[in-house]
Amino acid sequence: MRVSWQERFAGTPAVLKSPKRRQAVVSVLDFEIGGDEFVTMAGPCSVETELQLMATAHHVRRAGARVLRGGAFKPRTSPYSFQGLGIEGLKLLAAARQETGLAIVTEVMSEGDVPLVAEYADILQIGSRSMENYSLLEAAARSGRPVLLKRGMVATIADFLAAAEVILENGNPQVILCERGIRTFETAMRNTFDAAAIALLKQVSHLPVIADPSHASGCRELVPALARIAVAAGADGLLVEVHPHPDKAWSDGEQSLDFEEFDGMMASLDPYLKLRVNGLDERAGDRLVEAFG
Ligand code: PEP
Ligand code: MN
Repeated sequence: MRVSWQERFAGTPAVLKSPKRRQAVVSVLDFEIGGDEFVTMAGPCSVETELQLMATAHHVRRAGARVLRGGAFKPRTSPYSFQGLGIEGLKLLAAARQETGLAIVTEVMSEGDVPLVAEYADILQIGSRSMENYSLLEAAARSGRPVLLKRGMVATIADFLAAAEVILENGNPQVILCERGIRTFETAMRNTFDAAAIALLKQVSHLPVIADPSHASGCRELVPALARIAVAAGADGLLVEVHPHPDKAWSDGEQSLDFEEFDGMMASLDPYLKLRVNGLDERAGDRLVEAFG
């Protein structure tokens, strides 16, 4: 007998679609994530200098981004890699919002830093390495800021939904799910992009879903194709690394787009965005609810 998604994910009822809750929208500044607009979040992996951040912010805004990304607290695989500018980075991000009107998303790595990061950021990013840090999730939830939750590197979809459920159950419904690739036996790319997870999450959950093609591939040449796949799979937006000089980036340069490449990626999304039929996914989700709800 076929087990329904509703049954499979029964342990996380708050994140599932229901007849009462088909699609959540997260409001940030003057726009919404999870609504009709496809929202692009773009910027450097790490905040490095004022010049680097401002140049990138102005460029991505002109190209249509709504949110500026940039890490001030960096979870690096090696303790010898650049760990981020900390509070100086947060101040630069806030200055970039002031200058461009872009909203800010930045990672918070520890429970103790939540109040500080929430003071500067519009959206708190929970990184892959922290997805199962439940005390951090609870603190982020209590901040009242929207939370962008990245899928853990070895997290199943059920694990991912369980982490989102923790945030919702701590009183914060403003959660954005981010598929950023998972570890598999394939080592040609940094991670394996799980486009099916996007399609599935859009069907079973009411939460907005975005894709991070940069970390998913680890390779700038592949980022535009993965971004188009994400649109086709039903994603509500993207999180993309962009740097004025990727070869000189202090982190993740190999997967960062330069300004021209970012413009090319954005232009290449246009026909896919025209075909993006929110209603189609929505109806598929409704059918599931009717069948199994
Ligand atoms: C990042 O967004 O720069 C980052 C560290 O991402 P992840 O947590 O997905 O590795
Ligand atoms: Mn990065």
